[in-house]
Amino acid sequence: MSRQSVTVRVPAKVNVQLAVGGPRPDGFHGLANVFLAVGLYDEVTATAAGELRITCSGPDAGQVPLDRSNLAARAALALAERHGRGADVHLHIDKDIPVAGGMAGGSADAAGALVACDALWGTETPRDELMEICAELGSDVPFSLVGGAALGTGRGERLAPIEVGGTFHWVFAAADGGLSTPAVYREFDRLCEAAGRTVPEPEASPVLLDALRAGDPKALADAVSNDLQPAALSLFPSLADTLRAGSEAGALAALVSGSGPTTAYLAASAESAREIADALRASGTCRTVRTTTAPAPGAHPTDAPDRSSAP
Ligand code: ATP
Repeated sequence: MSRQSVTVRVPAKVNVQLAVGGPRPDGFHGLANVFLAVGLYDEVTATAAGELRITCSGPDAGQVPLDRSNLAARAALALAERHGRGADVHLHIDKDIPVAGGMAGGSADAAGALVACDALWGTETPRDELMEICAELGSDVPFSLVGGAALGTGRGERLAPIEVGGTFHWVFAAADGGLSTPAVYREFDRLCEAAGRTVPEPEASPVLLDALRAGDPKALADAVSNDLQPAALSLFPSLADTLRAGSEAGALAALVSGSGPTTAYLAASAESAREIADALRASGTCRTVRTTTAPAPGAHPTDAPDRSSAP
């Protein structure tokens, strides 16, 4: 049955491990990417309209393209094409995920648009086909659909779910400015070449996976890693000041989120997260600071139970 309007909520992500291999012939890098969905959300509302239209609200709305380069628009067009129909829909993005921050905000909007349009149009696309479209749209999009925690291999798009045994407390500091993901990968290649370093095959850390399964923040803090961090710091050196401020305030781990420049802080408790957030705000080294928990569910309509965590 089709509806007039559908709103879908989609989480941001942090990479608790991002192991990057050397560049492949297709230009992508092989990855072992441990995604954790966190409770910062964009909401995508799809409403029947005469033609494809995108609008956006929220603090970073001015940085979001409103033409067909928007990942949500590309998702609607891909789904419409698969069903041989027009993408006649108004997509409104209520954006809470920092833009160009390494938290997969655009990917979240793509997954949200897919789920919202599928419900609005009544096209009932099987889950595995939705996952295929997600993988075509971008390496991080499949994870935005499923949420929770998962190991991504290949370009990051081949996903295996990971069990998480507890709630983790996180603080995120958005930086003043963005970083282009391709530019960070280019810098990664440049730094490896300059160091004459052979990049090993990326592999997930068994210790990190155990820490997630155990829900143990200290063990997770000891195991987190991000191979893109030196490249992000090289392009955005002031992030080191933000990371230091978070560590000094008691973060168990402080790391760049994905390709940055958002930085992520794992806290021992909700109270510690609030203290770290206050210290980061007072440090004057970042634009905005948010506290939240993980894992969070994947893309789900706001009026329906989440199905991402269903067995
Ligand atoms: P990732 O963590 O997946 O590397 P990111 O969080 O660093 O991504 P995004 O917020 O997804 O970055 O935005 C990257 C660029 O993509 C933006 O600068 C913007 O020009 C473009 N873009 C396209 N669609 C969107 C969207 N729906 N929301 C935000 N940015 C979008």
